[in-house]
Amino acid sequence: MGSLKIKGVTKSYGHVEVLKGIDLDIPDGEFVVFVGPSGCGKSTLLRTIAGLEDTTTGTIEISGKDVTTAPPAKRGIAMVFQSYALYPHLNVKNNMALGLKQAGEDKAVIEQRVDKASTMLSLDQLLERRPAELSGGQRQRVAIGRAIVREPELFLFDEPLSNLDAALRVQTRLEIANLHHTLGATMVYVTHDQVEAMTLADRIVVLHNGIVQQVGKPMELYNDPANLFVAGFIGSPKMNLMPGKAIGDTDAKTVGIRPEHLTFVEGAGDISGKVSHVEHLGSETNVYVNCGEAGLIVVRLFGEYSVDINTERMLKLDRSRIYRFGDDGLRIRS
Ligand code: ADP
Ligand code: MG
Repeated sequence: MGSLKIKGVTKSYGHVEVLKGIDLDIPDGEFVVFVGPSGCGKSTLLRTIAGLEDTTTGTIEISGKDVTTAPPAKRGIAMVFQSYALYPHLNVKNNMALGLKQAGEDKAVIEQRVDKASTMLSLDQLLERRPAELSGGQRQRVAIGRAIVREPELFLFDEPLSNLDAALRVQTRLEIANLHHTLGATMVYVTHDQVEAMTLADRIVVLHNGIVQQVGKPMELYNDPANLFVAGFIGSPKMNLMPGKAIGDTDAKTVGIRPEHLTFVEGAGDISGKVSHVEHLGSETNVYVNCGEAGLIVVRLFGEYSVDINTERMLKLDRSRIYRFGDDGLRIRS
């Protein structure tokens, strides 16, 4: 139940190939996040899983059944979009119930499922309201409720939190994580936000230009990126990337070091430069240093740290935490 197999899926619009051969194997119950920059093909991939788009080549299996040509309604999926797509003239209860009614589901079953979902999502008190009388967060919960009542084998989310403000985004993110815990259903979740990906995913699929760059647990991607793209995409502030020769490494085209693996030193160090700006976040301080050939380097320090801009500083790299990349952008693992 709920497993997903994507084999050799490509998708072209005219001459433009948007998905360039995707292979993925997602076991039942897993929470998988597709992450990547805008336009990399995340929504297209999700929509081919849903059956809202045909694949150009390749096959899709859900729960062991080939659904490549099956219509969305026959795939056992439910999808939640960024725009909530609720019916404005229906109240919360009827918005959640509509799909089941249309499918001819038994009235008592509908009552019971709507009841259960609204309790799960704390919508009990809002069942008689129309969408216009709800906040953005509440509307998105209704959209999620509408997915839950269908009891799908596979949930598909496309940037469901993008329209919410920062505080609500964090809260709803926790609710989605809880939901996954409670339901144990397979969830495929699309976002361009690497923090969302890191916090929600059992496994992350990093997409770029219609190609899977790497698949792994959040900390595997963070600690062991396969290539330059993943190294630069996962982590905030971003990993510092500089020419190998800037630190005397003549075999690596590019070297990377995360901002937390650099320190300021008095005396001998690895690279030096002028402090250009400082971000005080309270729990941490990010210091940006213009290091000539190495470029603009960010140093992340725990807690509050006082540093004057325009002063010359020496930096030391934790040599055991340096990542090395070749001409092709792939990791050099030696
Ligand atoms: P993402 O969700 O990662 O931001 P999309 O999957 O929406 O990206 O789009 C990937 C690429 O495919 C984009 O370059 C987009 O312009 C193109 N694209 C998406 N849908 C269509 C379409 N119906 N016709 C032509 N091009 C499309
Ligand atoms: Mg998209």
